[in-house]
Amino acid sequence: MDILNLTLPELTIELKEKYNKNRYHAEAIYREVFRHGNTDLTQAAEFKKSGKLAEKIMNDLKVNLWPVVKMEQEDELTKFVTRSDDNLEYETVVIPMKNYKTICVSTQVGCKMGCDFCETARLGLLRNLTAAEIVGQIYYAKHVLGHNIKNIVYMGMGEPLDNFDNLIKSIDILCEDKGINFNHGNITISTVGEVEGINKLGDLNWPNIKLAISLHSAIDEKRSGIMPVNKKYNLEKLKAALKSYPLKEAGIFFIEYILIKGYNDSHEDALALIEFLKDLKVKVNLIPYNPGSGSKYDAPSYEEVNTFYQWLDEQGLVVIKRIPKGQDLMAACGQLGNQKLRETLKK
Ligand code: SF4
Repeated sequence: MDILNLTLPELTIELKEKYNKNRYHAEAIYREVFRHGNTDLTQAAEFKKSGKLAEKIMNDLKVNLWPVVKMEQEDELTKFVTRSDDNLEYETVVIPMKNYKTICVSTQVGCKMGCDFCETARLGLLRNLTAAEIVGQIYYAKHVLGHNIKNIVYMGMGEPLDNFDNLIKSIDILCEDKGINFNHGNITISTVGEVEGINKLGDLNWPNIKLAISLHSAIDEKRSGIMPVNKKYNLEKLKAALKSYPLKEAGIFFIEYILIKGYNDSHEDALALIEFLKDLKVKVNLIPYNPGSGSKYDAPSYEEVNTFYQWLDEQGLVVIKRIPKGQDLMAACGQLGNQKLRETLKK
């Protein structure tokens, strides 16, 4: 039983079928494994009187953690790369906050969305990560590295809503109150505006989950120029999806706007953004573009970022200026990207 891939109801069914045991024991396993990182069930009160059963289940139970092949410390960030059974690599970043950590997880190896400014896009989509591979990133950070993880941002490699079923299953596993017990309110899903996925997420009616939209332009022609998803789901469709999304009363959307010098940083761009956002509850994250190697776009100057910020601020928008390092690895998807795979592709 690969427990990282099982929701509590699924584990309960497995226990019933294999051992004729019920939810009482499933909850004990979930608690020990997910909350305490402990696979020695003989120590759990529920198994104290049935040591043989505990041993049988322990033999069957796998916490299938794939090997971490690279670990980097960048400033205060911990970045690790996991290698899957089929030899693909994906990245995770642990970001220190005041008293706890935020983890930025990948949902795909590569990405098919093709955003023009993005390192990960160069890989194309190699495959979706399974729920176990997504959950495993958090399990590893929490129980192997010992980080006090409070927030999860689905903002690493890939478009989370393009791997919808595994995304949702991973949230179900991580938020199970008998297990790790994450709160929906501490989870952010970042999307390029995959409208079908936004609608499906809305249908789940999980109002506490936070949604971050990578917008980057509120002018269709320009947005399509850097984000092919806009050709399928243009700004009108995206706006309609956001308007009908079941935000909670005090909820807001996080709007990610990477400011690219000479592309989306003019007064006209700011006015279009203000117009697009005028009847949505939002907070805008303004992120100066951070050019990678061989990038065809340029970073805006400090003054240009400030000017754009002021245009938005004057209209009453809540805007946060980000600096393109450290914590801002989590400021928009696509800032990760598998270095080794990229290098391989360059050859
Ligand atoms: S920016 Fe995000 S959605 Fe776009 S290609 Fe990169 S990883 Fe995919």
